[in-house]
This record gives sequence, structure tokens and C-alpha cells, in this order.
Amino acid sequence: MKLTILGAGAGACVPGTSTENLYPPAFLVEWDDQKILFDCSEGVRFRLEKAGHLLETIHHLAISHSHADHFAPLPFLLGIFLKGQWGGEKARNEALNIYCPDAIAKDFPVLWGIHWKKMDYHSFPKLQFHSMSKKEDPIVIGNALLFSNSAYHSYGNLDALCYRFETPSGVFVYSGDTGDCEGVRIACKDADFFVCESSARLTDSSMATQYGHLNARQAGEIAKSSGVKHLILFHYSGLDSDDALIDAVKESGFAGRLTVGKDSQTFEV
Ligand SMILES: [Zn+2]
Ligand SMILES: [Zn+2]
Repeated sequence: MKLTILGAGAGACVPGTSTENLYPPAFLVEWDDQKILFDCSEGVRFRLEKAGHLLETIHHLAISHSHADHFAPLPFLLGIFLKGQWGGEKARNEALNIYCPDAIAKDFPVLWGIHWKKMDYHSFPKLQFHSMSKKEDPIVIGNALLFSNSAYHSYGNLDALCYRFETPSGVFVYSGDTGDCEGVRIACKDADFFVCESSARLTDSSMATQYGHLNARQAGEIAKSSGVKHLILFHYSGLDSDDALIDAVKESGFAGRLTVGKDSQTFEV
């Protein structure tokens, strides 16, 4: 299993900090000649192709929640369509499975319809939505399993998900945006990679139970208690230095491998 970080940043960058050149969240997991993309942020199509992944090879997309720094799919989908139009059969991505919260599965096709009304030649990509909210059984993707758990975010008023992806060679877990909740703790149990958000300032512990964001210390505590092997922080604000994030995770007692995620990094297990 190979992980490529396509966007370790947040919705905006803070100039002069380590977030300056980071894109918003997107993570690609490859296993046994298959691929799944976690979150679809602004400009992800360029980042994918820069990393050597043609748009027509992406058939699985898992969305954590509907905030725009994680879910900006229209240019991505348009890119897939136009590439297939101009590039012929070989460049066509015929089908795209979208795993997502219930509201996206229900409402996004309406927005998609506005764009493509009266354009009946638009026969691809076929969008297949899979609602992952409150879903107890995993989705089977080849020889891998995709589990979803509820995340706590936006004061608990938003249907947000974290994902656990089990492949024969390793387990990848993606927190999306979340506070401290049972869902993320269950999801990351014994994970090989736990990509965990750390948006909250180190001086602010209350976000974990109020708005719903973790700081790096809390991410470390969760990773420690769940037996995570490699914790990868992302979605940090830049208002605390990378060294401060690392020290905070050490303070949590987490003794596994730690990375402050950066765009274009790759990891394999
Ligand atoms: Zn969010
Ligand atoms: Zn976010």
C-alpha cells in the first residue's frame, strides 16, 4: 500500500509559515494496481497528474464532509469529462464511485444536473454515489474494505465522516475534520497510517469538544491509545511551528513514527 499526500494543508495558508505552499486536503492510496482518493479539494486534478496519476485511472473517491476545503469536485469532474471528450476512448473515465455523507449523495446530483442540463452527450463519468453515513458494513473495493465512522465536527451539526481503509498489505485511516470522538478512536485502531487533522492551536484544547478540531497533542493521545504505528499530521494552521507540533505529540506519550505531513510525500507499507 502506498500513500501519496496531495494536500496536507487547510482551507487557507498563513504566509511566512510552513503552510505557505500546502494545498488543501487530498490523499491518494494505491494498492494492488487500484487507487482511491480521500477528499477532493481545489485543484486536485493538477496535483494528481503532477504526481503521475491520470484522471481516467481514478474510480474511487471518499469524501469526509461537505466543507469546501475538502469537497470541491466540480473542476475535478469537469476535467475528467473534458479529457475523455478530447482524448478519446483511452482517456475516458467511465465510472466514478463516490463514497460520502448522506447529504452529498442526495444533493450533489442536483448541482451536477444544473451544469449538464441539455447536454445529453455527457454520458461519462457515471457517478455512483454510496452513502456512508451510519453505515455499519464496509464497502468492498477489490480485495480491500472501506469502513466509515461518524466524526464530531462543526459543533456536531454536520454529517462528517472518518474512514478506515483495510488492504491486504496495510491499514490507512483518514480523520477528515474531527474533534475527539468515539468514531475516530475506533477507526484508527492499530492503523499503519493514521492521517489526522491538527487544526486547533496547541493552546486550545476546547476545540476538540466544541467546534470539533484536534490539536497535535490530542492527535498524539488518540494515536497512542489506539496503537497507531505511523501518525501523519495534516490540516495544521501554521500558527504553531512544526517543531512545536512534534514536541506536543511527544508530550502525549505517542512513541510510534510521526510525520508533519507535506505535499508530495509518499509512504509505503
Ligand atoms: Zn470542516
Ligand atoms: Zn477542513
